[in-house]
Amino acid sequence: MRRIYLDHAATTATHPEVVKAMLPFFTDVFSNPSSIHSYGREAKGAVEEARTKVAELIGARSEEIIFTSGGTEADNFALKGVAYANEHKRNHIITTSIEHHAVLEVCKFLGRKGFRITYLPVDKYGLVDPDDVKKAITDKTILISVMHANNEVGTVEPVEEIGKIAREARVYFHTDAVQTVGHIPVNVRQLKVDLLSISGHKLYGPKGAGALYVRKGTRLVSLIHGGAQEKRRRAGTENVPAIVGLGRTVELAGQEIGKEAERLTYLRDRLIKGLVEKIDHIHLNGHPAKRLPNNVNVSIDFVEGESMLLNLDLEGICASTGSACSSASLEPSHVLLALGLPAEQAQGSLRFTLGRENTEADVERVLEVLPGIVAKLRAMSPLWKTQK
Ligand code: PLP
Repeated sequence: MRRIYLDHAATTATHPEVVKAMLPFFTDVFSNPSSIHSYGREAKGAVEEARTKVAELIGARSEEIIFTSGGTEADNFALKGVAYANEHKRNHIITTSIEHHAVLEVCKFLGRKGFRITYLPVDKYGLVDPDDVKKAITDKTILISVMHANNEVGTVEPVEEIGKIAREARVYFHTDAVQTVGHIPVNVRQLKVDLLSISGHKLYGPKGAGALYVRKGTRLVSLIHGGAQEKRRRAGTENVPAIVGLGRTVELAGQEIGKEAERLTYLRDRLIKGLVEKIDHIHLNGHPAKRLPNNVNVSIDFVEGESMLLNLDLEGICASTGSACSSASLEPSHVLLALGLPAEQAQGSLRFTLGRENTEADVERVLEVLPGIVAKLRAMSPLWKTQK
């Protein structure tokens, strides 16, 4: 059976060109970039080349890029790093209720350490109101952290407007751009962000590779102490193959970004339209227009997301759900609940995230298979029977 992978927001296959670029750095150029012999200098050169490529994609300077082990570390670094560097003066952080756990759990941690955290609400589409951000700022605010686009519902946030507000108020501004870099244009100067998180494996790069953009002049403390790597900001021998892979993947993303976004938007809209036509009692989650080109998130009444997922899997289709069981927690997705969805609708959610290998045939296959699965599951649901 042909496998149809529609879970690109979870992770992506490493691009063959990226694997090719990485391979010599496991074997031929295995040297430590801190070694001063020519071999070490070669590895160092490759790391710096990758840094320039990452900087170029987001309109930054290469010295503003710090390599990390991925998006989670970049988020931790941004929040804890800025909070602790500035704690003597101020103690307030503003974020939103729909951030990834890599931000929310850090905020919870900082809350236990004495910082005050404001969690802003979102509207029914998952949009943060920049006015709410403005109103939440006090003379104690150190940092605002609002994600560029949400990983579950795909809503793209008004980051540029929030950036303006933060800059005027002289408050640091971080955005988690893990789901946007390489997918839609991201420019740190235009967005007016001071810190921005990137993860390689969401854009056809290797897992365990990421970066934090830190605008020149931003004060932050290191989380990992040891050697002098990354200009003393992040100690530890660099993961050279992964960094080289990240560099190559952002380079490829830069070449393909506009064309690919257009292609995926077409497939996304085809899938949404088809689902709405073929399945009744279905709702699109997230903003209809201000959404990532590859994200389709729907709630289907009277069925469990988990059951749909398992049935799709039997047909070779990989998707995801915001229902409780799949997220290994007792609560359904905090994002869907923050959008105001009743728990039953959050339980009946399905997320399809498209990527570079997907074609129109994949979309048609979902449209062929899913209505039958829904009908089968509804036939077993007592709630559906009372509804009819
Ligand atoms: N932030 C967002 C929005 C994400 O979607 C993810 C991954 O799912 C992360 C952070 C964490 O990134 P990583 O898997 O590289 O640690």
